[in-house]
Amino acid sequence: MKGGKLLVFSAPSGSGKTTIVRYLLEQPELNLAFSVSATSRPRRVKEKHGEHYYFMSISEFKNHIKKGDFLEWEEVYRDNFYGTLKSEVDRLWAEGKNVIFDIDVVGGLRIKKKFPKETLAVFVKPPSVDELKIRLKKRSTESEDKINMRVAKASVELATAPQFDKIIKNYDLDEALEEARKLVLDFISTPATKSNSDK
Ligand code: 5GP
Repeated sequence: MKGGKLLVFSAPSGSGKTTIVRYLLEQPELNLAFSVSATSRPRRVKEKHGEHYYFMSISEFKNHIKKGDFLEWEEVYRDNFYGTLKSEVDRLWAEGKNVIFDIDVVGGLRIKKKFPKETLAVFVKPPSVDELKIRLKKRSTESEDKINMRVAKASVELATAPQFDKIIKNYDLDEALEEARKLVLDFISTPATKSNSDK
């Protein structure tokens, strides 16, 4: 596997990272393509197979694990597996794209470890855990139980922020979008032979 840059955006669910990733994908100068993850979680009404996720059963997912098809995978919530297929990154690199990931903190740090020079790992920080809960409730894609599960996980995830290359505080969305655009532009303009710590 070799090619362009990898941009990892990780954060607790509800922090606004998906909004940031979508915005970045619309910026032509960044030449980004979205890494579509595989998941065993149920499809939400508006989601499309192959666009938002590759939806599959738990047994299909486990089969891919056995075959070593994943760059990283994680049981993010119980029985909800998520993972990045190696074939997905290969496909997008073959198209000459920089690849952007909207994945959980553990997966994000794994990709950074596998490709230290090619990867910029960004942590998106929400104003507070209480604010996260409000955002998740507004989104109303999950049951109360699932929201509580996501909020409980958020505190653990927030503790991993210092391990990322950059932290974006998403207190004001417009500012966060602009900061993210600048960070990515700067990173993709720097040759991959230089690691972040050299900068
Ligand atoms: P959701 O169910 O809201 O789409 O995603 C739940 C969590 O799983 C989010 O934090 C999301 O970023 C993460 N996630 C999505 N795809 C992947 C992946 O390929 N690998 C890992 N490790 N996490 C992922």
